[in-house]
Order: sequence, then structure tokens, then C-alpha cells
Amino acid sequence: MSETYSVKMRASSDGHHVSGAEKIVPAASVSKVASRLVERALSHERGTPDFINVKIESLPSDILRLKALPVKTHVVATPAEGRALAAQLLAEAGIANADEIMARFSETHSLRGAMLLDADTLERLEPDQSRGVRATYMDDAAALAKGTAGVKNHYAEAIVLATKVQNAPNIIAEICVSDDPDYVTGYVATRELGYRRITVLKEKGDPNGGRIFLYRGSRDEVAKTIEFLEKTPILVDDVPTLPSAANAPRRFGALADALDARQAAGLSRRCRTLGGPTGPTAIVDGRELVVFASNDYLDLARDPRVVKAAADAANEFGAGSGGARLTTGTQPPHVRLENALAKFKGSEAALLYGTGYMANVGAISALVGKGDAVLSDELNHASIIDGCRLSGADVLVYRHGDMEDLDRKLGACREHRRRLAVSDGVFSMDGDILDLPRFLEVTRRHDAFSMVDEAHATGIVGRTGRGLAEYFGCELPDVLMGTLSKALGSEGGFVCGSKLLVEYLRNMSRPFIFSTAPGAPAMAAALTALEVLIAEPGRVAKLRENVALFVSELVCHGVAVRGETAIVPIVVGDEKRALAASAALEELGFLVPAIRYPTVARGAARLRVALMSAHTQEQLCAAAASLVEILKP
Ligand code: PMP
Repeated sequence: MSETYSVKMRASSDGHHVSGAEKIVPAASVSKVASRLVERALSHERGTPDFINVKIESLPSDILRLKALPVKTHVVATPAEGRALAAQLLAEAGIANADEIMARFSETHSLRGAMLLDADTLERLEPDQSRGVRATYMDDAAALAKGTAGVKNHYAEAIVLATKVQNAPNIIAEICVSDDPDYVTGYVATRELGYRRITVLKEKGDPNGGRIFLYRGSRDEVAKTIEFLEKTPILVDDVPTLPSAANAPRRFGALADALDARQAAGLSRRCRTLGGPTGPTAIVDGRELVVFASNDYLDLARDPRVVKAAADAANEFGAGSGGARLTTGTQPPHVRLENALAKFKGSEAALLYGTGYMANVGAISALVGKGDAVLSDELNHASIIDGCRLSGADVLVYRHGDMEDLDRKLGACREHRRRLAVSDGVFSMDGDILDLPRFLEVTRRHDAFSMVDEAHATGIVGRTGRGLAEYFGCELPDVLMGTLSKALGSEGGFVCGSKLLVEYLRNMSRPFIFSTAPGAPAMAAALTALEVLIAEPGRVAKLRENVALFVSELVCHGVAVRGETAIVPIVVGDEKRALAASAALEELGFLVPAIRYPTVARGAARLRVALMSAHTQEQLCAAAASLVEILKP
């Protein structure tokens, strides 16, 4: 790790505390963070300070890393209920006298630090009882990695502090009640129970609060405990993000619990902030990374011609379309794009939707309903699964890529009114390609509709990127779905098929009928991207070369991967291991997302590497080398 500093700010007015904060930041961020903390002090709602102290210290390079305590929220209705729960949790931690401990909050109010109590005798152990013990030199490791000190996040700060305290020698528990009269939430933390937030621990308006650290051990070691709390720098990994229901009404409690459970299982998700378009590199949360997470496979989303087409269309047709095409009317870019897509795919006609998700849901639910059967590959994309569910048809899931299983299951649906078999063309989390000729043979034999999702095939599969029919040299499925949001660098979805099919969908497909048409800028951008793709087939070839290079770099170092398409999954299994590998890659400058349940099955977590034609050889080789290093057992 490069040089690291502690930046602390403390502001007071007339000797009374106004605000305080501390951050651990890389050298490059010190001045930015310090000035942000000063700005915060100057605009604090508790009043304008007359004294601000900023302390900046260099830290040793080997900062201790701790794993955040797991968090669980308990939603309670009254302070009595909250205190009873706190007592029960302390009892579970082997502390019997919870009521007496909580009565000591009347004394903690005046302390800047925490009270250090002997858990059994309730004797105070701090050498300076007017000040208490202050846990300092700690931060969220993720904030440091980002090089930003973000906005003040009380929730994350409390977890960082509680994690440090529970790792201090001889500390067996902490109980904390906010000293803010308006904030009634507090927590009990122990190493075994983790961080148990309790939504109500005191009456609104009550200024009493503070922290009590409970100590059990020899008196000779108190100094060691205090030394750890006050002097040892630590960084905490995996600090959870704020559950949205922190202080919410009771009915939101189950939501907070569900979020906490996801967090504990390594399954919670958050959005990264991008500082511009996603090319092969992008600014992610303020830092430039090489991106292996974009479906903009041919680097067309930021192509000047594509961007200009969108801008020109916005000028000519406006930003939004104004309504559904059947009620408001259709703008020419939509019709031009439908014609171009049909020609590109070799179908009679095409129909646009707002997104690929809507295209799948809209087509499936229009084609089958109650009394029909839909047969779906077990690894199909969520939008197909949702379309199947919404249709009301009987859903039969067949084994991944297993045409014999499909055959058998279709055979068992002879009594159904209609049958539809649907499959990803390129499986979005596995990158493998459907055996389209066999799929067509089986479905036709059973007189079932065939539907293939070419979201990850369009622009990638086939010599010129036309998709599976070009790749296999076979016919098209009855329903060919695709998206504009991946290799076509825009957004929107489409279905290609016969004129009859498209006319049927135009009349029957609810997401087409009842949703506002996508805007002309996105349609014009996709049309131009399609024209570039047709004019420059070298992009498709370059993407294939990149895949071959990347895969061979991995395979020759013993990492077995498959490289049929632009999606190269590296299955690690355990969710937390996948997250850790993704975080380690990010440290090294690569954005490779960890894909976890429910996107893939539990225990089948993976790194999903998405390659682009614009990645350089150096980027591919460096990423492969880092992956090999990180995946070493
Ligand atoms: N199908 C597949 C296989 C996908 O991967 C996606 C996008 N993740 C979609 C459909 C949905 O497309 P869109 O993002 O345009 O809604």
C-alpha cells in the first residue's frame, strides 16, 4: 500500500464539541479530505465553531485489517422493548447485570470517549474518567481504496468503531446509545453476535447516551486494551452499506432483515459510480480501472458517429418519444431501425421495445398463456424467466443445453394448446452458445414455437456478428430476440421474425402497447452503430482475437476457461470468495464483477469477464496474469 495518513478534524464552540471526524486516506487525497472535513465543520447544524483542529499524521504501512462485524437490525416499538432485547443479547454474551450497566448511561453523557467498565464488578477502568476511552485511528477499507472520504456515514462509522472495539484484547461487549436526543437507535456488539442494531433504545428527546465498553480480564492488561483502542490504526473490510430501513416504521423491519441476511451471505449489491462512458477503461468511483464488466463489446457506445447520431436525433425529434407508438405515433428512426435490424438478421420484420427485458417478457407472454406450455433452459436470463412466469403458461425447465431433455419434455406437452421453447443464444453468465440447429430440429418436430435470445450474440457470434444462424449456417428461430444495449452501444430491445409474428406482437404484446416508445436518440444511435458494425466487420474479428488471446493466457497458466464468446466466466463457487477476488482485482486496477445468486445458482459464484474489441494486448495479458495470481490456491 502506498503512503497512508490519518486525517482528524475536531471542531468546538465555546469549549463545546460541535463536530468531529477521522479518515484514513492515501497521500494524494490528504488535502482534499482535510478541506472537506473543514467545510463540514463550518456548516454543521449544531452551530458555527470558533475552533477547528485538523491533525494529519503519517501511518505505518502495515495497517491491521479487520473484517466488519456482521450486522443485524432488530426493529422494536418501544424503549422498554429495545432495552429488554439489549439485556437478552448481553446475557447471551455472558453478562448478567445488563440493567445496572444501562443505568450508567446517565454518566456517559458528559464523556467525549467511552466508559470502560469491568463487566462483572462494574468498576470504571479508564485512567481519565472525565474523558473516557476514545477509539480512534480506524476507517472503512473500501473508502481508503477509493481514495475518497465520501459523505459522513454514521452507520458505516459505527460499524467500523464497533469492529475495532470487539477486536480489542479483553473487551467482551459494547453497548451504545446515541447521545443525540432525536436519534433513538443504538446497538449491542459482541464478537460472536456481531453488530446488533436496535431501532429504539431510548425515548425521543432524551439526551442521555454514550458508549460502554465491557472488559473482562486482568487489571494489568487494561493499559494494553486502551493502547489498542486509542493508538493502533486499523482498516475494516466489508463494511455493509446502510439498510434503507434503519429507522423506519415497524413494517419495514422485515425488509431490513432481508438486506442484512443478504449482506451476511456476501450477496448484497451496490452501484458503482462511473465518471464517463464505459470504454475498455473507465473512471469507477473516482479511479481509472481497466473494465471487464461492460457489454458494449464493440466499443460503440462512445463512438463519435454513434454519439452524433443520438445528438442529431434529439435535436430533430426531441429527447423523449411522447407516448406509445400505437397511440401517439411512430417516429421515423424507429421504423428505419426496425427495417435495418430485420435485414441484418435476415428476417421479414422486426419490432422494437423499450429494453431487451421488455422484449423477452412481451414476446413470451403474448405467445403463450393459460393452457399452453413454455419450455425454458435452466440457465436462461431472468427476463426470460419473468416472461415465462407472467405468461401464465405451464413452465417446464429443461436441463442446460440438453436437447434430449427438451425433446422429452416437449413430448410430454402434446395436450397443451401451444408450445414455446425458449433459450438464450449465448448464455449471459456462462458464455456458451446454444446448439441452434438441434434446437430447431427438436422444436419443429414437436410443432413448437422456437425463441432465441441473441442479446449477447448480436455483433459477436458469426463471422460478421449476425448471430447464431450465421455461425451455424442454419435457419432462424421463429422468434429472434435481441437488445440494442450491448454490442449496439445504445438501449432498447427488439424481436425479429415473420411479418405475421411481428403484426401479432404489435397488437398483443403488452410492453409494446402500454409503454412509451424508446426515444429517437437511442434508436438513431443503435441504427448508426449497426451501420458501423456492418461496415467494419474487423471489430467482430478483433473481439474474437482478444478472446482467444485472453483465454490462452489463462489456460497456459492452468486456469481452465472457455472462450466461445465475449463472456468468459471463471467459476469460483463461494460468494464471498468471488467478492474477495473481485476486490483484489480492483486493487490491481481491473473491474471484474463477482456474479452471485440470484443471477447464478447459490455456490456457483463467479468472476464474469466481459471482453471488448478495444481492449489492448497489454490490458488482456495484465488482467490474465493478475487473475492467475489471485486464483492461486
Ligand atoms: N437477455 C439477456 C441474455 C441479457 O443478458 C439481457 C441483459 N442483461 C437481457 C436479455 C435484457 O436486455 P436489456 O438490458 O436491454 O433489458
